[in-house]
Amino acid sequence: RGMSSVTIPPPACMLRPLEAPFRYLFGPGPSNVPPRVLAAGGRPIIGHMHSEMFGIMNDIKKGIQYAFQTSNNMTLAMSGSGHTAMECALFNIVEPGESVLVAINGIWGERVAEISERMGAKVHTLVKTPGGHFTNAEIEQALAKHKPVLFFLTHGESSAGLVHPVDGVGDICHKYNCLLLVDSVASLGAAPLLMDQQNIDILYTGSQKALNAPPGTAPISFSERACHKMFNRKAKPVSYLLDMTHLSNYWGNDGKPERTYHHTGPVSGFFALRESLAILAETVGAICVYFLLKDLRLPSVTTIAIPEGYNWKELLAYIMKHHRIEFTGGLGPSVGMLLRIGLMGYNCNKANAAMALAALEDALKQCRMSKA
Ligand code: PMP
Repeated sequence: RGMSSVTIPPPACMLRPLEAPFRYLFGPGPSNVPPRVLAAGGRPIIGHMHSEMFGIMNDIKKGIQYAFQTSNNMTLAMSGSGHTAMECALFNIVEPGESVLVAINGIWGERVAEISERMGAKVHTLVKTPGGHFTNAEIEQALAKHKPVLFFLTHGESSAGLVHPVDGVGDICHKYNCLLLVDSVASLGAAPLLMDQQNIDILYTGSQKALNAPPGTAPISFSERACHKMFNRKAKPVSYLLDMTHLSNYWGNDGKPERTYHHTGPVSGFFALRESLAILAETVGAICVYFLLKDLRLPSVTTIAIPEGYNWKELLAYIMKHHRIEFTGGLGPSVGMLLRIGLMGYNCNKANAAMALAALEDALKQCRMSKA
């Protein structure tokens, strides 16, 4: 027996087949991945620097821009889970010694405070018990007091089940020369969020929740303002892997003619992410965006804002003709503003809600096509 022979025998477990049972994943993520997305992830591997891969990454960028409702050039997917995007945002935007303000109303703010502390930022916190939320006045007061370079807010606090209001927060941050960082890992695709319209500077999410892709990739986008801050730093960020100077080149966002090797991206994860973003683009997934009301919604009558470019009478006629369902338009001052869907008493069950939604989705597809 030479020195080179193996002394550790093959582990017995490795001689057994993989056990990965089917599960209904009805927790806060990961969620079940549709067969189409699984199949995309199962395609043969190509090189991370092949031109086809760059094409796929370009598609992913477009898909994220749609999902985030942003035209930010600095849009990409991180190789890693939601935490990777969280650390990427903090490491690139904040320099050691700078102040950050973190809204804590569950675990995610706590995490961001800890990561910021580890990287040497001065951390200030706004704290509520899980499920609590912060008024814009409270946020403004804290911004005025601490003068942070970054304010962190969790949009979907999965540890508390709260979706945090975002309207107006970006404007307040900018008034105090502060950037707004929003975590939408648990909410993007499930609750309305419009990056550009809501003036969010850095937004990230995860692949494995409402996007229904496998865990392991994390979409992120940076506004011009955020880019200005992170590309004019005094010192390089502590992480080489998460350095946006390199990542922006890898994603073809830096305007350079060549992409150079930085790290090997998760090829299968990107295939799957592209497919899940394609499904989002095909679906009228933004139906929730069309609710007329953000809150105080009447359970028995749901009002749907009529999206731009549609004729409400045409939508109603289509739904009646093809789905045999009556919805109605507005009444009095709301005529022309909205459609009304009533699901009351005996009619109010999940199957009927799904049928109503499917009919609306179909009408939005067909009536849009007839315009095009
Ligand atoms: N933020 C929120 C709101 C989350 O729900 C999660 C995942 N539970 C994360 C961040 C972290 O994501 P990941 O586990 O993919 O790192």
